[in-house]
Amino acid sequence: MQNCRFGVNVNWSNYDYENFYNYPANHIIMCHLCNAKPVYEFTNKRKLCRNCFIHWFEKKFLFINRKFNMIKKGDIIAIKGEGYKKEALKYVLDNFKNKLMIKINNKGNKIAISDTIGSESNKIIDVLINKNINKSPSLKPINNKIIKPLYLFTDEEVLLYAKLKGLKYKPSTKKIDNLTYFLNNLEQKHPEVKRAVVNSYLKFS
Ligand SMILES: [Zn+2]
Repeated sequence: MQNCRFGVNVNWSNYDYENFYNYPANHIIMCHLCNAKPVYEFTNKRKLCRNCFIHWFEKKFLFINRKFNMIKKGDIIAIKGEGYKKEALKYVLDNFKNKLMIKINNKGNKIAISDTIGSESNKIIDVLINKNINKSPSLKPINNKIIKPLYLFTDEEVLLYAKLKGLKYKPSTKKIDNLTYFLNNLEQKHPEVKRAVVNSYLKFS
């Protein structure tokens, strides 16, 4: 992370990930690469270079884990999901397996699934519309053995991480249903709407 002031000037352990998207873009001094070669722009117009984005993604992954108390020392984690989300989840868990003191194995005591803000906002609205409250526990970041380490990431963020890390993945074969189509349209006109759905759900559940 040399020359990367975005990475080194911030106290990442206390960093306010919850309100990250509400900060103005100039809240943090960026590295010169952020200005020169951005790979990502948040809705608050903050841009990040490749190094800063990877750093931000991995720190946020650790933050999600702490916030929801997902992974404990000695856990054995099985990984489920599909496409780039599964590959990104596998990569980031593998990257931190020593730090978190866990093992990754098909017969885990916990199952990590690759759900994101994109998939969760969809399911939450589906539950609200169809009033199928019985489905509700499965929407939480943790439900018994199941954990969702990517819970607070958008699909775009996970896809970019997978691409920057050069991960190989099979494109999704899932058809886009009406609700997904509706939400994607809404998100284009009102960025952050999917995140708002997930945050509201967390507040009221
Ligand atoms: Zn940077």
